[in-house]
Amino acid sequence: MPAASQTTRDAREFDVVIIGAGHNGLVCAAYLARAGLKVKVLERRAVVGGAAVTEEFHPGFRNSVASYTVSLLNPKVIVDLDLHRHGLRIVERPAQNFLPLPDGGYLLTGEGRTKSEIAKFSTADAERYDQYCAKLETVADTLRDLVLRAPPNVVEGFGWRGLRELARAAALGNTLRGLDLEEQRVLLDLFTRSAADVLSEWFESEPIKALLGFDSIVGNYASPFDPGTAYVLLHHAFGEVNGKKGAWGHAIGGMGAITQAMARAAAEHGAEIETEAEVTEVLVERNRVVGVALKDGRAVRAKALAANVNLKLLYTHLIPEQALPDDFLERMRKFKCGSGTFRMNVALSELPSFTALPGKTASAHHGAGIIIAPSLAYMDNAYRDARERGWSREPIVEMLIPSTLDDSLAPPGAHVASLFCQHVAPVLPDGRSWDDASDEVADLMIATVDAYAPGFAASILGRQALSPLDLEREFGLVGGDIFHGALSLNQLFSARPMLGYADYRGPLCGLYHCGSGAHPGGGVTGAPGHNAARTILADLKPFSF
Ligand SMILES: Cc1cc2nc3c(=O)[nH]c(=O)nc-3n(C[C@H](O)[C@H](O)[C@H](O)COP(=O)(O)OP(=O)(O)OC[C@H]3O[C@@H](n4cnc5c(N)ncnc54)[C@H](O)[C@@H]3O)c2cc1C
Repeated sequence: MPAASQTTRDAREFDVVIIGAGHNGLVCAAYLARAGLKVKVLERRAVVGGAAVTEEFHPGFRNSVASYTVSLLNPKVIVDLDLHRHGLRIVERPAQNFLPLPDGGYLLTGEGRTKSEIAKFSTADAERYDQYCAKLETVADTLRDLVLRAPPNVVEGFGWRGLRELARAAALGNTLRGLDLEEQRVLLDLFTRSAADVLSEWFESEPIKALLGFDSIVGNYASPFDPGTAYVLLHHAFGEVNGKKGAWGHAIGGMGAITQAMARAAAEHGAEIETEAEVTEVLVERNRVVGVALKDGRAVRAKALAANVNLKLLYTHLIPEQALPDDFLERMRKFKCGSGTFRMNVALSELPSFTALPGKTASAHHGAGIIIAPSLAYMDNAYRDARERGWSREPIVEMLIPSTLDDSLAPPGAHVASLFCQHVAPVLPDGRSWDDASDEVADLMIATVDAYAPGFAASILGRQALSPLDLEREFGLVGGDIFHGALSLNQLFSARPMLGYADYRGPLCGLYHCGSGAHPGGGVTGAPGHNAARTILADLKPFSF
């Protein structure tokens, strides 16, 4: 890390420097620049987008290498940043999810087909499905209302900050009062109970519980029987695709198309974005951030600094320890990061033919989220096994084949698939490195798909495997955590990243949080970037948002 005194200074001073050009950094930059501030974004990698990027992973084959499917991206952000004009096009999946089963059965959900598919397993479940969706939707609507608002922040003592937070708490109370008593009970259930408990009260057949329960363990290193997992299920339900609530879709060109559009929007408003510009230290003078030092020896000064990087990385690696309050730093060191994710991209010579639904010609199920996790008990076992051994012998895999919807990703006739594999230990037991285990685990993931689609392994022309360690090294995701920190109750809402710091302001003057470590957490939402920009503008340029 270069000492600040050895750096060359960028003569220009910026209003705001943003560390990281992940999608939230870009969103924040666009709003700030649009309001007339002089903004500089510094990105360590050669490409903007953070975990939402499209890259070539095998000659001639491109894919969204990390984040791979879109729903949570906030509609207000799309409109405000005019992302469609900047090239964004999102298409719906032809079917939402495909759950092949070991006995050759399957569940294929999506518009117009879900209830009849569920009825194959239980007519009672099919009858209850609409009611379940309506209840979840009411609560998801409340969440949607909260994602673009700073949560009430816990402050000590009275004074104007206390009054402001009191007003926020009252506004939250008003929103919740919009729910009737039964809906408030459902909300409480979803925030505190396990996904398995909630789903088992609604449904009797395993396939529908598995298909819905999968969302509760995505990016959540936990068993679906653990309290709190119902919230993660809800977190995945508050999105929409082109106005269709709860649906998931594909951005033409991959997730990188979203962040390229955001970068164009930010640049159009005058934000300067620099890649291959790694920040090595935040410069602090008398309890105030004044800029950053870069790996190449430069220093960039600014009135304010917004951190898009993982907050644990920021506070434990980029800010001098002595500049931070002891209790804050201690808590940040304990901030839980590690979503138990293993991510693969594969180049395919042909589409897979599933035992449950044979055929290599593109059909609706090829364009769905293909979930290999046939029951909640399977997911529970996967978690337990992973805790004991580092990964499960029967792992959970979601496969998406975006080239069925987008011909820009693979050569004609060939395909690319994303394998999103859940429940590997963020850190392996017995001190083993992920670098020594990654190939073995990648083989296992492929064999797991091959067991449901024989011939899949033989169709692979090339592959990329990203272990939790790779995700940390490549994208700065501490512990490989896809959400910049667990979505557990103690790290959500007013407690994200910790009580007292939920208003996007850090513990130093001029320091702000604009990434997924802030409310409402991870996912390609744009919400933390939007909310942080509002806070920064309130401090630097009141009444401009
Ligand atoms: C494997 C995987 C799959 C996922 N799947 C989905 C999905 O399908 N749908 C969905 O909605 N969400 C998904 N997510 C979650 C979502 O992608 C992330 O939560 C979100 O992209 C985080 O955005 P961000 O802008 O907050 O941070 P990031 O995207 O992490 O951006 C932070 C940026 O900071 C940069 N940086 C780090 N250190 C420095 C430094 N020292 N100096 C300068 N720059 C630095 C990084 O390179 C990065 O560009 C997935 C994530 C992963 C990893």
